Amino acid sequence: MRLILLGTPGAGKGEQATRLSKRFGIPHISTGELLRREMEERTPVGRRIAEFVNQGELVSDEITQAILEDRVRREDCAAGFILDGFPRNLRQADFLKEALHRMNAPVDVVLNIEVPDSTVIDRLINRHRQDDTPETIRHRLRIYRKVTAPLIDYYDRADILTRIDGDGSPEEVTQRILTSLARTA
Ligand code: AMP
Repeated sequence: MRLILLGTPGAGKGEQATRLSKRFGIPHISTGELLRREMEERTPVGRRIAEFVNQGELVSDEITQAILEDRVRREDCAAGFILDGFPRNLRQADFLKEALHRMNAPVDVVLNIEVPDSTVIDRLINRHRQDDTPETIRHRLRIYRKVTAPLIDYYDRADILTRIDGDGSPEEVTQRILTSLARTA
C-alpha cells in the first residue's frame, strides 16, 4: 500500500504516519526528517538545506526530489510506504507521479488530514522543534496555503483523495483513517 499524507504543518501527519507504519509494516518516509539528517551531517548540501529549513522556506525541488527518489527505490519500500511531507507543490507531485510510474508503483490513497487553524498553531508552539519559532510557523503556514494546498484539488481530481477529520486524539484520528481505508480497499 502506497499512501500520501497531506495536511498543514501541525496537522499530525508525522504522528499518524508513525502509527500507520507500525500497523502496516511499511516505512514512514518524512522528507523533513531526511533533510534534517542531511543538515546534521554538515556537508555542503546539508548547509544549503539548513538555510531554507531554518527560515521555514521550502528546500529546492531538485534536492528533495533526489532524496525522495533514492528513498522509495530502496528494497524496504517494495510492499509500500507512507509519504509525510512530500509532495509539497505541484511540480513535486508531477515528479512523484512520473517516478512511481517508472517503478510501476502508483500511489493508492492520499489522506488529507484536516485540522482547524487554532489547533495547528497550539500544536506547533508546543512541539519545540528548532524551526518552530512563531515567525517560521507563520511563514510555513503561508507557504502551505499558497503552494501545497493546491495538491488537495490535484489529488481530488485524480480521484484518490480521502478527507480525514484530524481534530481529536491521535488514537481517534488513526481509527478514522483505518475505517476509511477499509472502505476504499
Ligand atoms: P516537515 O518536517 O515536513 O515539517 O518539514 C520541515 C522542513 O523541511 C520544511 O519547512 C521545509 O523547509 C523542508 N521540507 C520538507 N519536505 C519538503 C519538500 N517536499 N520540499 C521542500 N522542502 C521540504
